[in-house]
Amino acid sequence: MKQEGSGMEKKIRLGISTCLLGEKVRYDGGHKLDWFLTETLGQYVEYVPVCPEVECGLPIPRESMHLEGNPDSPRLVTSHTKQDMTERMVQWAKKRVVQLEKEDLCGFIFKSHSPSSGLERIRVYDERGMPVKKGIGIFARIFMEHFPLLPVEDEGRLHDPKLRENFIERIFALKRWREVLVKKESRGNLVDFYTKHKLFILSHSPKHHQIMGKLVAQAKNLPLKELYIQYQSLFLESLRLRTTPKKNANVLQHMMGYFRKQLFSDEKHELLEIIELYRKGYIPLIVPMTLINHYVRKYDQPYLKGQSYLNPHPIELQLRNHV
Ligand code: SF4
Repeated sequence: MKQEGSGMEKKIRLGISTCLLGEKVRYDGGHKLDWFLTETLGQYVEYVPVCPEVECGLPIPRESMHLEGNPDSPRLVTSHTKQDMTERMVQWAKKRVVQLEKEDLCGFIFKSHSPSSGLERIRVYDERGMPVKKGIGIFARIFMEHFPLLPVEDEGRLHDPKLRENFIERIFALKRWREVLVKKESRGNLVDFYTKHKLFILSHSPKHHQIMGKLVAQAKNLPLKELYIQYQSLFLESLRLRTTPKKNANVLQHMMGYFRKQLFSDEKHELLEIIELYRKGYIPLIVPMTLINHYVRKYDQPYLKGQSYLNPHPIELQLRNHV
Protein backbone atom coordinates (compact mmCIF):
# COMPACT_ATOMS: atom_id res chain seq x y z
CA MET A 1 0.00 0.00 0.00
CA LYS A 2 1.38 3.41 -0.86
CA GLN A 3 1.48 5.20 2.47
CA GLU A 4 -1.33 7.73 2.20
CA GLY A 5 0.11 9.13 5.40
CA SER A 6 -0.41 9.07 9.09
CA GLY A 7 -0.20 11.81 11.64
CA MET A 8 -1.73 13.42 14.66
CA GLU A 9 -2.01 17.03 13.50
CA LYS A 10 -5.10 18.77 14.76
CA LYS A 11 -5.50 20.71 11.55
CA ILE A 12 -5.94 19.06 8.18
CA ARG A 13 -2.82 19.31 6.07
CA LEU A 14 -3.51 20.35 2.50
CA GLY A 15 -1.18 21.07 -0.38
CA ILE A 16 -1.95 24.31 -2.21
CA SER A 17 -0.63 26.32 -5.12
CA THR A 18 1.40 29.03 -3.39
CA CYS A 19 -0.09 31.99 -5.28
CA LEU A 20 -3.56 31.19 -3.81
CA LEU A 21 -2.20 32.13 -0.39
CA GLY A 22 -1.38 35.63 -1.60
CA GLU A 23 2.33 35.00 -2.19
CA LYS A 24 3.69 37.04 -5.09
CA VAL A 25 5.10 34.14 -7.06
CA ARG A 26 3.26 34.43 -10.37
CA TYR A 27 5.04 35.06 -13.67
CA ASP A 28 4.03 38.75 -13.51
CA GLY A 29 5.05 39.17 -9.87
CA GLY A 30 1.44 39.05 -8.70
CA HIS A 31 -0.62 36.62 -6.63
CA LYS A 32 -4.09 35.05 -6.70
CA LEU A 33 -5.14 35.32 -3.07
CA ASP A 34 -8.34 33.38 -2.42
CA TRP A 35 -10.11 34.67 0.70
CA PHE A 36 -12.30 31.63 1.22
CA LEU A 37 -9.26 29.36 1.26
CA THR A 38 -7.15 31.55 3.55
CA GLU A 39 -9.72 33.06 5.92
CA THR A 40 -12.54 30.49 6.10
CA LEU A 41 -11.15 27.06 5.26
CA GLY A 42 -7.80 28.26 6.60
CA GLN A 43 -9.15 28.07 10.17
CA TYR A 44 -9.25 24.27 9.88
CA VAL A 45 -6.36 23.66 7.54
CA GLU A 46 -2.60 23.89 7.63
CA TYR A 47 -1.42 24.57 4.10
CA VAL A 48 1.70 23.16 2.48
CA PRO A 49 2.43 25.61 -0.35
CA VAL A 50 3.92 24.43 -3.63
CA CYS A 51 4.83 26.72 -6.54
CA PRO A 52 6.20 24.49 -9.28
CA GLU A 53 7.58 27.29 -11.44
CA VAL A 54 9.50 29.05 -8.67
CA GLU A 55 10.56 25.83 -6.92
CA CYS A 56 12.01 24.42 -10.13
CA GLY A 57 14.27 27.46 -10.25
CA LEU A 58 12.51 30.03 -12.41
CA PRO A 59 12.67 33.70 -11.39
CA ILE A 60 9.93 36.19 -10.40
CA PRO A 61 8.92 37.85 -12.66
CA ARG A 62 9.45 35.47 -15.60
CA GLU A 63 8.19 34.91 -19.08
CA SER A 64 4.72 33.38 -19.18
CA MET A 65 4.37 29.78 -20.35
CA HIS A 66 1.80 27.54 -21.97
CA LEU A 67 1.31 23.92 -23.01
CA GLU A 68 1.94 22.80 -26.58
CA GLY A 69 1.60 19.59 -28.61
CA ASN A 70 -0.26 16.41 -27.71
CA PRO A 71 -2.84 17.16 -24.97
CA ASP A 72 -2.01 13.80 -23.32
CA SER A 73 1.69 14.58 -23.00
CA PRO A 74 2.15 18.28 -23.75
CA ARG A 75 5.34 20.30 -23.56
CA LEU A 76 5.72 23.34 -21.30
CA VAL A 77 7.03 26.19 -23.43
CA THR A 78 7.67 29.88 -22.77
CA SER A 79 5.20 32.01 -24.72
CA HIS A 80 7.56 34.33 -26.63
CA THR A 81 11.09 32.91 -26.68
CA LYS A 82 9.78 29.33 -27.02
CA GLN A 83 12.13 27.76 -24.49
CA ASP A 84 11.08 24.21 -23.64
CA MET A 85 10.81 23.88 -19.84
CA THR A 86 9.21 20.43 -19.83
CA GLU A 87 12.20 18.36 -18.74
CA ARG A 88 13.16 20.80 -16.01
CA MET A 89 9.61 20.80 -14.60
CA VAL A 90 9.13 17.01 -14.86
CA GLN A 91 12.44 16.22 -13.11
CA TRP A 92 11.66 18.66 -10.30
CA ALA A 93 8.04 17.46 -9.94
CA LYS A 94 9.04 13.78 -9.65
CA LYS A 95 11.32 14.64 -6.73
CA ARG A 96 8.82 17.00 -5.12
CA VAL A 97 6.00 14.43 -4.96
CA VAL A 98 8.33 12.04 -3.13
CA GLN A 99 9.08 14.80 -0.59
CA LEU A 100 5.34 15.44 -0.23
CA GLU A 101 4.77 11.84 0.92
CA LYS A 102 6.14 12.98 4.29
CA GLU A 103 3.70 15.88 4.57
CA ASP A 104 0.65 13.81 5.52
CA LEU A 105 -1.51 15.64 2.97
CA CYS A 106 -5.26 15.04 2.97
CA GLY A 107 -5.63 16.71 -0.43
CA PHE A 108 -4.42 19.46 -2.75
CA ILE A 109 -5.96 22.69 -4.04
CA PHE A 110 -4.50 23.69 -7.40
CA LYS A 111 -4.55 27.02 -9.22
CA SER A 112 -6.90 26.79 -12.18
CA HIS A 113 -5.79 27.53 -15.76
CA SER A 114 -2.07 27.17 -14.99
CA PRO A 115 0.11 25.13 -17.38
CA SER A 116 2.08 23.94 -14.32
CA SER A 117 -0.55 23.71 -11.57
CA GLY A 118 -3.89 23.44 -13.40
CA LEU A 119 -6.08 20.43 -12.65
CA GLU A 120 -8.10 20.15 -15.87
CA ARG A 121 -9.15 21.84 -19.10
CA ILE A 122 -5.83 23.66 -19.50
CA ARG A 123 -5.24 25.16 -22.95
CA VAL A 124 -2.87 23.10 -25.11
CA TYR A 125 -1.80 24.77 -28.37
CA ASP A 126 -1.27 22.85 -31.61
CA GLU A 127 1.34 23.68 -34.29
CA ARG A 128 -1.00 26.29 -35.82
CA GLY A 129 -1.34 28.03 -32.46
CA MET A 130 -4.91 26.84 -31.95
CA PRO A 131 -5.81 25.92 -28.34
CA VAL A 132 -7.86 22.98 -27.09
CA LYS A 133 -8.91 22.94 -23.45
CA LYS A 134 -7.86 19.37 -22.76
CA GLY A 135 -4.61 19.65 -20.82
CA ILE A 136 -3.50 19.07 -17.25
CA GLY A 137 -0.71 21.14 -15.69
CA ILE A 138 2.62 19.31 -15.67
CA PHE A 139 2.99 19.25 -11.88
CA ALA A 140 -0.71 18.56 -11.26
CA ARG A 141 -0.57 15.49 -13.49
CA ILE A 142 2.52 14.07 -11.77
CA PHE A 143 0.97 14.78 -8.36
CA MET A 144 -2.29 12.98 -9.24
CA GLU A 145 -0.42 10.00 -10.68
CA HIS A 146 1.61 9.74 -7.50
CA PHE A 147 -1.37 10.18 -5.11
CA PRO A 148 -4.28 8.74 -7.10
CA LEU A 149 -6.70 8.56 -4.17
CA LEU A 150 -6.06 11.96 -2.59
CA PRO A 151 -8.87 14.51 -3.00
CA VAL A 152 -7.86 17.30 -5.39
CA GLU A 153 -9.66 20.41 -6.60
CA ASP A 154 -8.88 23.82 -8.02
CA GLU A 155 -9.96 27.14 -6.53
CA GLY A 156 -12.26 27.88 -9.47
CA ARG A 157 -14.24 24.65 -9.08
CA LEU A 158 -14.46 25.27 -5.33
CA HIS A 159 -16.74 28.24 -6.04
CA ASP A 160 -19.39 25.65 -6.96
CA PRO A 161 -21.21 24.85 -3.68
CA LYS A 162 -21.65 21.15 -4.54
CA LEU A 163 -18.00 20.61 -5.47
CA ARG A 164 -16.90 22.62 -2.44
CA GLU A 165 -19.03 20.57 -0.05
CA ASN A 166 -17.86 17.32 -1.61
CA PHE A 167 -14.16 18.22 -1.46
CA ILE A 168 -14.31 19.45 2.13
CA GLU A 169 -16.31 16.42 3.21
CA ARG A 170 -13.64 14.18 1.69
CA ILE A 171 -10.70 15.89 3.34
CA PHE A 172 -12.35 15.78 6.77
CA ALA A 173 -13.19 12.09 6.25
CA LEU A 174 -9.62 11.36 5.25
CA LYS A 175 -8.35 13.13 8.36
CA ARG A 176 -10.61 10.95 10.55
CA TRP A 177 -9.27 7.85 8.80
CA ARG A 178 -5.68 9.03 9.38
CA GLU A 179 -6.50 9.31 13.07
CA VAL A 180 -7.41 5.61 13.01
CA LEU A 181 -4.14 4.80 11.24
CA VAL A 182 -2.04 6.35 14.00
CA LYS A 183 -3.70 4.11 16.58
CA LYS A 184 -2.62 0.52 17.05
CA GLU A 185 -4.05 -1.59 14.23
CA SER A 186 -6.98 -3.61 15.53
CA ARG A 187 -10.18 -5.07 14.16
CA GLY A 188 -12.06 -3.25 16.90
CA ASN A 189 -10.74 0.19 15.82
CA LEU A 190 -11.53 -0.50 12.19
CA VAL A 191 -15.04 -1.79 12.92
CA ASP A 192 -15.68 1.24 15.13
CA PHE A 193 -14.65 3.60 12.32
CA TYR A 194 -16.73 1.65 9.82
CA THR A 195 -19.80 1.73 12.07
CA LYS A 196 -19.59 5.52 12.52
CA HIS A 197 -19.21 6.02 8.76
CA LYS A 198 -21.86 3.60 7.51
CA LEU A 199 -24.39 6.25 6.51
CA PHE A 200 -21.66 8.56 5.30
CA ILE A 201 -20.44 5.84 2.91
CA LEU A 202 -24.02 5.07 1.88
CA SER A 203 -24.48 8.73 0.91
CA HIS A 204 -21.49 8.48 -1.42
CA SER A 205 -21.91 4.99 -2.82
CA PRO A 206 -24.54 2.34 -1.99
CA LYS A 207 -22.34 -0.15 -3.84
CA HIS A 208 -19.30 0.52 -1.63
CA HIS A 209 -21.55 0.47 1.42
CA GLN A 210 -22.51 -3.08 0.51
CA ILE A 211 -18.99 -4.30 -0.35
CA MET A 212 -17.48 -2.72 2.78
CA GLY A 213 -20.22 -4.27 4.91
CA LYS A 214 -19.21 -7.71 3.61
CA LEU A 215 -15.52 -6.96 4.15
CA VAL A 216 -16.07 -5.93 7.77
CA ALA A 217 -18.36 -8.92 8.38
CA GLN A 218 -15.49 -11.24 7.47
CA ALA A 219 -12.87 -9.15 9.29
CA LYS A 220 -11.88 -12.09 11.50
CA ASN A 221 -10.91 -14.22 8.51
CA LEU A 222 -8.45 -11.73 7.03
CA PRO A 223 -4.93 -10.86 8.21
CA LEU A 224 -5.12 -7.45 9.92
CA LYS A 225 -2.79 -5.72 7.47
CA GLU A 226 -4.75 -7.00 4.49
CA LEU A 227 -8.01 -5.88 6.10
CA TYR A 228 -6.68 -2.33 6.57
CA ILE A 229 -5.36 -2.17 3.01
CA GLN A 230 -8.62 -3.33 1.49
CA TYR A 231 -10.71 -1.11 3.74
CA GLN A 232 -8.65 2.01 3.02
CA SER A 233 -8.79 1.45 -0.68
CA LEU A 234 -12.59 1.01 -0.66
CA PHE A 235 -13.14 3.94 1.70
CA LEU A 236 -11.09 6.35 -0.41
CA GLU A 237 -12.71 5.05 -3.59
CA SER A 238 -16.19 5.59 -2.13
CA LEU A 239 -15.33 9.19 -1.25
CA ARG A 240 -14.49 9.92 -4.87
CA LEU A 241 -18.13 9.27 -5.77
CA ARG A 242 -20.18 12.35 -5.10
CA THR A 243 -23.26 12.50 -2.97
CA THR A 244 -26.44 13.49 -4.82
CA PRO A 245 -29.88 14.62 -3.63
CA LYS A 246 -31.17 11.16 -4.54
CA LYS A 247 -28.50 9.37 -2.49
CA ASN A 248 -28.91 11.78 0.43
CA ALA A 249 -32.70 11.43 0.36
CA ASN A 250 -32.26 7.66 0.52
CA VAL A 251 -30.03 8.01 3.61
CA LEU A 252 -32.44 10.46 5.24
CA GLN A 253 -35.35 8.08 4.75
CA HIS A 254 -33.22 5.27 6.15
CA MET A 255 -32.55 7.41 9.25
CA MET A 256 -36.20 8.21 9.57
CA GLY A 257 -36.82 4.48 9.97
CA TYR A 258 -35.13 4.65 13.39
CA PHE A 259 -37.96 6.87 14.67
CA ARG A 260 -40.80 4.77 13.34
CA LYS A 261 -42.15 4.12 16.81
CA GLN A 262 -41.59 7.59 18.29
CA LEU A 263 -42.91 9.91 15.59
CA PHE A 264 -46.58 10.76 15.25
CA SER A 265 -48.02 10.33 11.80
CA ASP A 266 -48.13 14.10 11.12
CA GLU A 267 -44.43 14.33 12.12
CA LYS A 268 -43.57 11.46 9.77
CA HIS A 269 -45.57 13.12 7.04
CA GLU A 270 -43.80 16.43 7.59
CA LEU A 271 -40.33 14.82 7.56
CA LEU A 272 -41.10 12.85 4.40
CA GLU A 273 -42.37 16.00 2.73
CA ILE A 274 -39.22 17.91 3.65
CA ILE A 275 -36.98 15.10 2.37
CA GLU A 276 -38.92 15.09 -0.89
CA LEU A 277 -38.62 18.88 -1.23
CA TYR A 278 -34.88 18.52 -0.74
CA ARG A 279 -34.66 15.68 -3.27
CA LYS A 280 -36.44 17.85 -5.85
CA GLY A 281 -34.01 20.73 -5.23
CA TYR A 282 -36.46 23.18 -3.62
CA ILE A 283 -34.67 23.37 -0.26
CA PRO A 284 -31.04 22.75 0.81
CA LEU A 285 -29.77 19.69 2.65
CA ILE A 286 -29.40 21.63 5.90
CA VAL A 287 -33.24 21.69 6.29
CA PRO A 288 -33.95 17.91 6.53
CA MET A 289 -30.62 17.43 8.35
CA THR A 290 -31.65 19.92 11.04
CA LEU A 291 -34.96 18.16 11.59
CA ILE A 292 -33.32 14.71 11.70
CA ASN A 293 -30.67 16.04 14.11
CA HIS A 294 -33.47 17.37 16.28
CA TYR A 295 -35.10 13.93 16.49
CA VAL A 296 -31.75 12.22 17.10
CA ARG A 297 -31.19 14.46 20.12
CA LYS A 298 -34.79 14.37 21.31
CA TYR A 299 -35.03 10.56 21.26
CA ASP A 300 -31.34 10.05 22.08
CA GLN A 301 -30.91 7.54 19.27
CA PRO A 302 -27.50 5.99 20.09
CA TYR A 303 -26.59 4.55 16.67
CA LEU A 304 -27.51 7.71 14.76
CA LYS A 305 -25.84 9.95 17.35
CA GLY A 306 -22.49 8.38 16.45
CA GLN A 307 -22.91 8.78 12.69
CA SER A 308 -20.36 11.09 11.07
CA TYR A 309 -22.96 11.71 8.34
CA LEU A 310 -24.78 14.04 10.73
CA ASN A 311 -21.74 16.28 11.24
CA PRO A 312 -19.11 15.51 8.58
CA HIS A 313 -17.50 18.97 8.76
CA PRO A 314 -17.78 22.08 10.98
CA ILE A 315 -21.23 23.67 10.76
CA GLU A 316 -19.56 27.12 10.62
CA LEU A 317 -18.51 26.36 7.05
CA GLN A 318 -22.25 26.32 6.16
CA LEU A 319 -21.60 23.82 3.41
CA ARG A 320 -24.98 22.12 3.62
CA ASN A 321 -26.80 25.46 3.39
CA HIS A 322 -26.07 25.54 -0.35
CA VAL A 323 -26.40 21.93 -1.55
S1 SF4 B 1 -0.15 28.80 -10.67
FE1 SF4 B 1 1.31 27.38 -9.81
S2 SF4 B 1 3.21 27.79 -10.87
FE2 SF4 B 1 1.87 29.54 -11.20
S3 SF4 B 1 2.40 30.98 -9.59
FE3 SF4 B 1 0.68 29.77 -8.84
S4 SF4 B 1 1.65 28.12 -7.74
FE4 SF4 B 1 3.25 29.01 -9.00
